[in-house]
Amino acid sequence: METVLASKYIPVSVCATEYLGSALKRVTFRGDFSKADFSIGHAVAFRVNECDFRNYTPASVCEEKGLCDVIFYMHGKGPGSKFSRDLRQGDSLKMIIPRGKKLFQPSKTLHFFFGDETALGLFSRMARRIKEQHQAYTGMVELDGENLRLPPELDLSVKTIVKKEFCGNSAETIGVYLRETYPAYLEKAVFYLLGNAASIQVFRKALRLQNVSSKNIKTQAYWAEGKIGL
Ligand SMILES: Cc1cc2nc3c(=O)[nH]c(=O)nc-3n(C[C@H](O)[C@H](O)[C@H](O)COP(=O)(O)OP(=O)(O)OC[C@H]3O[C@@H](n4cnc5c(N)ncnc54)[C@H](O)[C@@H]3O)c2cc1C
Repeated sequence: METVLASKYIPVSVCATEYLGSALKRVTFRGDFSKADFSIGHAVAFRVNECDFRNYTPASVCEEKGLCDVIFYMHGKGPGSKFSRDLRQGDSLKMIIPRGKKLFQPSKTLHFFFGDETALGLFSRMARRIKEQHQAYTGMVELDGENLRLPPELDLSVKTIVKKEFCGNSAETIGVYLRETYPAYLEKAVFYLLGNAASIQVFRKALRLQNVSSKNIKTQAYWAEGKIGL
């Protein structure tokens, strides 16, 4: 299939890897990205073993230099996680061209992020664009304890929360907290909810209880407990 559908693949090489934490790795791919549509929010994919593909969202793309960064979360429970841990400088592989939702709403002046480690790449890309456009953002990112230090290191100004603690509350409690903490955002922002399907569900419900219009809530589940390969 890779030969028949050659136009859907970009040959790439790994030109750098960097551990941001013991379970987070930034990988820089080099390739000819000039013909692909790297809209913010589009995901690329890789074959992670003989038969399985997994999706990842670029954290930065420079078409002129032919470079693309992805931040991989290596949770250790599946082939995608193992694939990313094994990536080494000098590896050659094929990237499935970017496709999917164009989540980013460039005309909005306020943006709110909610997600986890799997969303850090996309959030850092969005944050750079938002700053360039002189707009504002805030957000909340739920992380493993050891990763709580990461958002500032990625130049991301968001509140960090320990995974499972915050979304263990009821949607009503979360809604009240959001109303007290981010009143202007509830009125005017676009909300991007990414990552864990269960957390997205409770956060979305909290926003709806606070009368945030569903057209201002953009969701994309990146993984779900017990589900294989979203
Ligand atoms: C559009 C899209 C964009 C994505 N972008 C990124 C990205 O930029 N960076 C990134 O790291 N991931 C990203 N993901 C998620 C990534 O594809 C998943 O981590 C991957 O699907 C998990 O693959 P796996 O083979 O390791 O585990 P799977 O075989 O899919 O699942 C095996 C087990 O692992 C568990 N599991 C899966 N993911 C997690 C997790 N995050 N935490 C804890 N347990 C988990 C599942 O519940 C399941 O029980 C994206 C997903 C989608 C759909």
